[in-house]
Amino acid sequence: MRILIVGGGLVGALLALMLGRRGYAVHVVERRPDMRRHGFAGGRSINLALSDRGIRALERAGIAESVLPLTIPMRGRMIHHEDSTLEFQPYGIAGQAIRSLSRGHLNLALVEAADRLPNVTLEFEWRCVGVDPDVPAATFVHTTTGEQRRIECDVLVGADGAFSSVRDALHYRDRYNYCQEYLEYGYKELTIPAAEGGGFRMEPNALHIWPRHSFMMIALPNPEGTFTCTLFLPFEGEVSFEQLRTRADVSAFFERFFPDAVPLMPTLLEDFERNPLSSLVTIRCYPWVVGRTVLIGDAAHAIVPFYGQGMNAGFEDCRILDELLDRFSDDWEAALAEYQRMRKPAGDAVAQLALDNFVEMRDKVADHHFVLRKKIEVLLLEHFPELYTPLYTLVTFTPEVSYDEAYRRGQVNERVISEIMALPDIDQRWDDPAMLDTYRQILERYGTARSA
Ligand SMILES: Cc1cc2nc3c(=O)[nH]c(=O)nc-3n(C[C@H](O)[C@H](O)[C@H](O)COP(=O)(O)OP(=O)(O)OC[C@H]3O[C@@H](n4cnc5c(N)ncnc54)[C@H](O)[C@@H]3O)c2cc1C
Repeated sequence: MRILIVGGGLVGALLALMLGRRGYAVHVVERRPDMRRHGFAGGRSINLALSDRGIRALERAGIAESVLPLTIPMRGRMIHHEDSTLEFQPYGIAGQAIRSLSRGHLNLALVEAADRLPNVTLEFEWRCVGVDPDVPAATFVHTTTGEQRRIECDVLVGADGAFSSVRDALHYRDRYNYCQEYLEYGYKELTIPAAEGGGFRMEPNALHIWPRHSFMMIALPNPEGTFTCTLFLPFEGEVSFEQLRTRADVSAFFERFFPDAVPLMPTLLEDFERNPLSSLVTIRCYPWVVGRTVLIGDAAHAIVPFYGQGMNAGFEDCRILDELLDRFSDDWEAALAEYQRMRKPAGDAVAQLALDNFVEMRDKVADHHFVLRKKIEVLLLEHFPELYTPLYTLVTFTPEVSYDEAYRRGQVNERVISEIMALPDIDQRWDDPAMLDTYRQILERYGTARSA
């Protein structure tokens, strides 16, 4: 049985490792040069937030132990308000954290682990230019010599990211559904260097957010003491990238909206000029499986980054496909059919959750009512874990609940919290132990007693 994986990014490399461990002959063909010899050649973000769905997949692949030490736990959001005050909002209960991780280091760890298996072959600098799903087979062109070759296989996996060439081939078939939507926002990465003499210039165990209503900046820590900041801003309009034409424009914009960050960003102007302005896209398509050709990761469901779930969702695809191969005793037809049935609704749900979370991050987190809602959610989770799980906890820390189920439960949660917020004097009484009975009655009425 020959498995051909197009794309050796995060998801392709993890799947190669999992399928290699099952004993298949796995062939990964990647467009970029081998990062072990050429370093990390660009990428879509310098660091990423890894959370429990991703960790569970890494555990299944036997690689979590070597990846987790490379991560920095972020236990909550550190809000940088407009008046430069700071406010820490925990993500969950004690011990729950998402983890900042270098994309390059993670990809390297996955590629090295897959390559150690004798039945896994990795080839670099070959770009897929065509796919014949009926065989299945893929055609590649060498990125420097221009040489062309065709590889036939038993199962062809498109793990080649948001602009997948494998998906392109499916796209032009009859009854193929495809939808691509760009946000009117772009993003640019910037840097906060380590302090002189080493160490972090801000709290390292938090994801920093500067919410500014219609736009925001975030920062995630890196192990060497730096932070990677990402500015999300509309492309056009009154406050937008198109208005930031000169160094003076950029300085004035940062002084006005992020005054506490400016002294921490000595290379701001150089970074701003040098780093690319990138776009944000959501891609939905169906089917994900055509014969023995299958899409996985961003190739199947490219989402905006605001829930920090794109890679986690792709890793979960791999974990579930691997579990289905167990369940169906390596009957690929049955496993692929079930993979698609389970994962397409999950992909749609996480795409919507990610879009919704942008509004939460850039606007609501700075709002007094939102902060109170979050505090009440944590209190409900602490007192009634069997009755209430906040949406963020379901998405981020509860891999046993699918994204689509989390989405549905999140909508019930909204109604529960809205009812609690409408109680008299809730601002003053929310943590009064006398309120617990009322909360329980509301929770029981909504029947949210299916906590994970
Ligand atoms: C700004 C930003 C921040 C993000 N932050 C997070 C986060 O915090 N947490 C999270 O979980 N997710 C995050 N994501 C999402 C995450 O980056 C993606 O979901 C993840 O990279 C998907 O992995 P993939 O392997 O499916 O695709 P990719 O990482 O895009 O890898 C695809 C691979 O296929 C190769 N390839 C492409 N075309 C071809 C071809 N024709 N032939 C051969 N090879 C090809 C590419 O070179 C690449 O190596 C973020 C995304 C962005 C843009």
